[in-house]
Amino acid sequence: MAGMQTPFYLIDKSALRRNMEQVARLREASGAKALLALKCFATWSVFDLMRDYMDGTTSSSLFELRLGHETFGKETHAYSVAWADHEIDEAVSYSDKIIFNSLSQLDRFADRAKGVTTGLRLNPRFSTSGFDLADPARPFSRLGEWDTARLESALDRISGVMIHYNCENRDFDLFDGQLTRIETEFGEILKRLDWVSLGGGIHFTGEGYPIDRLADRLKAFQDRWGVQAYLEPGEASITGTTTLEVSVLDIIDNGKKVAIVDSSIEAHMLDLLIYRETAKLPQSGDHEYQVAGKTCLAGDIFGDGRFDKPLAIGDRISIADAAGYTMVKKNWFNGVAMPAIAIREEDGSIRTVRSFPYDEYKSSLS
Ligand SMILES: *Cc1c(COP(=O)(O)O)cnc(C)c1O
Repeated sequence: MAGMQTPFYLIDKSALRRNMEQVARLREASGAKALLALKCFATWSVFDLMRDYMDGTTSSSLFELRLGHETFGKETHAYSVAWADHEIDEAVSYSDKIIFNSLSQLDRFADRAKGVTTGLRLNPRFSTSGFDLADPARPFSRLGEWDTARLESALDRISGVMIHYNCENRDFDLFDGQLTRIETEFGEILKRLDWVSLGGGIHFTGEGYPIDRLADRLKAFQDRWGVQAYLEPGEASITGTTTLEVSVLDIIDNGKKVAIVDSSIEAHMLDLLIYRETAKLPQSGDHEYQVAGKTCLAGDIFGDGRFDKPLAIGDRISIADAAGYTMVKKNWFNGVAMPAIAIREEDGSIRTVRSFPYDEYKSSLS
């Protein structure tokens, strides 16, 4: 790995298998099914490993849906905030279940989705998201139906609902309380369904999460309403499995030591910028640097890191947790070289599975 050209994302298969074993444990103990949310992570080179531990994929668009169908297989759920007329037949051809976002989309397309199981997104009008941008329960939210009369009018055409309302929720008691609230408010609907997807955002692969309590709660939910529960873990599936490997190109001291690296937060870890978070940098040692990107955006800053020795040009820095909402969002801003994708196999060997030479940049525009 020392000689590999940076930048590159490095997926650690042993870490991924540890997460997958947690997913499998939850599925077995609860009877719930688990689908990978492709909008979070769609690096299909590792689907061979993930497929054995999960039930399939869920999607947010025709392309994600097709990718899930082609590269992951098993059960394929299709969801989109809005399907276009020209997409719906192809979408149905890849799906086991199609979940409409609104009653009007259901009205419009239910006939063309006759061959597959259909559902509707239910918005319970609360969520665990603290960030307005990502809060499905924000005022005037377009994400799903909440009016019980409207939901009831769909019951002759759907067999289930998808309820996505958690966001990196590490608090089991909060999950439990909110699920009880859903049962109280929507019980009349739940008991007439065959399946309920509780969406993503439950951080059950995190350190210390009470996975057995979650399993018992999901089991009780399924038994009470006579439904098959689904979870759609994105971040929980891949958390802690991937780093972004970069090298120091220049060091500047403007009253603060700044290490400029061959990457960019805007181009390669965009979510951190959107949600105003800092990257997970090394934090041990006495030598502090601000680690910054090489684009001309003034605020292209990963964050502050601490290192054992003073940094030198050419040193490698490893930025943790670079899988979720990261590789799916990389872009060509400033024409910065896009990180290659490499995999650390379980025997320790590293293999580059994809690189992005100049032609890729050129062909992304015309
Ligand atoms: C984003 C999303 C997910 C995945 O969420 P994570 O927080 O990554 O687990 C699952 N289902 C739906 C409908 C989503 O919008």
